[in-house]
Amino acid sequence: MTGHPGNMSCAEFQAQLPELVGSGKDAARHPHAQGCERCRALLADLETIAEAARQLFPSVEPPDELWEQIESAIKKEGDHAPPAAPQRR
Ligand SMILES: [Zn+2]
Repeated sequence: MTGHPGNMSCAEFQAQLPELVGSGKDAARHPHAQGCERCRALLADLETIAEAARQLFPSVEPPDELWEQIESAIKKEGDHAPPAAPQRR
């Protein structure tokens, strides 16, 4: 990317919109949204949709415990079958 982020085109900004909204960042604070009324309106629409999706699928945002579960599952798997363990019969 070149230049000041405020100088980016609407197409460039809109290409980043789903990522901005999806990552939970405050996309309205983006320099382009601050200076471009059209993209601000588009952003508002997208956030309305994103908010509706969050209410429809409240489990989309993974809780911290999920990572702990994944971590312990990996560890358990490691205990069960240590990759470096020699298998002799
Ligand atoms: Zn724009």
